[in-house]
Amino acid sequence: MRLLVTGGAGYVGSHAAWAAVDAGHEVVVVDNLSTGHRDLPPPVELVELDLLDAEGLSALLARVRPDAVLHFAARAQVGESVAHPDRYFRTNVVGSLNLLEAMRDAECGRLVFSSTAAVYGEPESTPIREDAAMRPTNPYGRSKRMVEELLEAWSDRGWVHSIALRYFNAAGADAAGRTGERHDPETHLIPNALLAAAGKRSRLKLFGTDYPTRDGTCVRDYVHVSDLADAHLRAIDWLEDGTGAAAINLGTGTGYTVREVLTEAAAVVGAPLVFDEVARRPGDPAVLVASFERATEILGWSPQRDLREILASAWEWHRR
Ligand code: UDP
Repeated sequence: MRLLVTGGAGYVGSHAAWAAVDAGHEVVVVDNLSTGHRDLPPPVELVELDLLDAEGLSALLARVRPDAVLHFAARAQVGESVAHPDRYFRTNVVGSLNLLEAMRDAECGRLVFSSTAAVYGEPESTPIREDAAMRPTNPYGRSKRMVEELLEAWSDRGWVHSIALRYFNAAGADAAGRTGERHDPETHLIPNALLAAAGKRSRLKLFGTDYPTRDGTCVRDYVHVSDLADAHLRAIDWLEDGTGAAAINLGTGTGYTVREVLTEAAAVVGAPLVFDEVARRPGDPAVLVASFERATEILGWSPQRDLREILASAWEWHRR
């Protein structure tokens, strides 16, 4: 198929773009390079364009005529979204609306959307199923939830059928080292832990040790970015015949505490990890673990890589 990948120069998007090329698809990447990097996607056409440029986007869709779109382009930092909600709603919601209008006009009827566990907010029970209440606690999660609403409307009208993939904690890197995580600033636990253990950044801060969990630190469900990429390809296959606006969790069903991740990260780097225990980071739920039953049922997907493999691939990427 011919695929348009928005945000294909970013972290998850570049892994999906590589996986699509590996699977034999023809890929065009569109990215404004605000947080993406030109050297992360595979060597395919890279169009430098902002999704807020509605005219440019319509012209691109009319020219490329993709069979399906993988939509990653978004702002994705929770803290920044609290400080600048306007930017988040504009980029994530208006940008997605522009894309959906351009797809409708170009008669491109298949979309895979990069959603997030942040649409749930503080969960009532765990593991989280897709029918759990959606009460996002920050503008980032709200903006993604609003896009899911747009997808339902577009599907009801028969314009675009879609699958929203709600990622839990994406981590790890391409096994072949072709792409990996490169955020600036880096806020995520796994890269920060690896770089701290390697002495490549300042001491790590462990946010919160008084959560009601087995060791007092937050529990998260870390899912390998290459497993996420694989789910996107399965979602495209499903959409060949499938209709509707489905939402599917992508996680492993297994949670690790921050302390457990730090212990494993130190073992992978082979160096002790010193960290400072500090206050909770506002907005962090105690436990976020996915049920991935629906992903198995609809996509035949299950995670293939464990925490060790996540850490080892991420470390290989950061080391180089
Ligand atoms: N965390 C931490 N120190 C850091 C970064 C993260 O203690 O430098 C904790 C954070 O409070 C959360 C977990 O690690 O409990 C995962 O955070 P991350 O930012 O990686 O992902 P999130 O769950 O926020 O999407």
